[in-house]
Amino acid sequence: MPRAWTLRSRPNGMPTADNFELRDAPVPRLEDGQVHVRNRWLSVDPYMRGRMNDVKSYVPPFQVGEPLEGGAVGEVVDSRAEGFAAGDLVLHMAGWRDEAVLPATALNKLPQLGVEPQAFLGNLGLTGGTAYFGLLDAAQARQGDIVFVSAAAGAVGSAVVQIAKAKGMTVIGSAGGPAKCDFVRSLGADAVIDYKAGPLVKSLAEAAPKGIDVYFDNVGGDHLDAALAHARKDARFAICGMIEGYNAAEPMCFRYIMRVIAMRIMLKGFIYTDYLPRMGEFFADMGALVASGQVKSRDTVVGGLENTPDAFLGLFTGANTGKMLVKL
Ligand code: NAP
Repeated sequence: MPRAWTLRSRPNGMPTADNFELRDAPVPRLEDGQVHVRNRWLSVDPYMRGRMNDVKSYVPPFQVGEPLEGGAVGEVVDSRAEGFAAGDLVLHMAGWRDEAVLPATALNKLPQLGVEPQAFLGNLGLTGGTAYFGLLDAAQARQGDIVFVSAAAGAVGSAVVQIAKAKGMTVIGSAGGPAKCDFVRSLGADAVIDYKAGPLVKSLAEAAPKGIDVYFDNVGGDHLDAALAHARKDARFAICGMIEGYNAAEPMCFRYIMRVIAMRIMLKGFIYTDYLPRMGEFFADMGALVASGQVKSRDTVVGGLENTPDAFLGLFTGANTGKMLVKL
């Protein structure tokens, strides 16, 4: 019997296993225009935490008692839709479950780029697209810039480090703990900060004595404050995520926020889906960086549908290096 993870209750602060329930989810009979998919890979992402709150945002909240959603790569097992046949690999949003019947309009066949299918959940999907457009469009980063990126050992951050190096920038990455810092260094970062080892404002001063032109923010809080403290004139900040605040009870405070004025800092928030019309450009450029080995993938793989909530919760305790994935 196919199963799906549902939201049993809305989390308050850090979610726990009790907020999730695995239920039987029989698939309906296939109608015209529909495709039956068996999932192979599921993505878990920090933004899903926001969808667990009952608040209006750029994506609607998950509903209590309903299956959760998220990026997934599946294999077509049966199709009554033109253009899809058994064996096709497809990308869709019906994750957190092992099977789904979906309208053909909810599916995209994986482009033939000679990479592993799970890459379309990572460097050639939401993760890589967020890094690519956040760095090059939102932050307008260019050759010669000094770029600071937080959560640099994570999925988006590790892609930012590698894209920035491939485009001729100097990169400073921050991550939690020596092993993750070694990983960030192995990606080509010029300097690495272990943010758990000391105050960030001081560490960033040492790592970037000339200051920073670009900050790619995955964390918010102290990281954003340190970036404000060390921004050079006309610095550009891509505000991608603020994971430090997703489960926090207290609001974030910024001691150095007034430097936005003096240093003419541009803060630009963005959402990956803003860039969907430009995916052709992304596949061409990022596909080439991946094919040439300039951008490599590192995945943390959790096995089995039953462990999906653990994989998700691990994002908030730093359990992943690179992209967190669930393999079915
Ligand atoms: P990720 O970085 O692969 O995983 C999360 C990482 O964040 C953890 O491994 C951990 O690394 C770090 N972290 C967790 N709690 C932290 C805290 N309190 N302080 C500092 N670091 C913390 O996740 P991702 O998918 O690549 O996402 C990264 C960020 O981008 C998230 O904020 C996410 O919401 C955002 N995002 C935005 C968009 C968009 O469209 N704007 C799209 C995708 C992702 P350490 O062990 O190093 O602490």
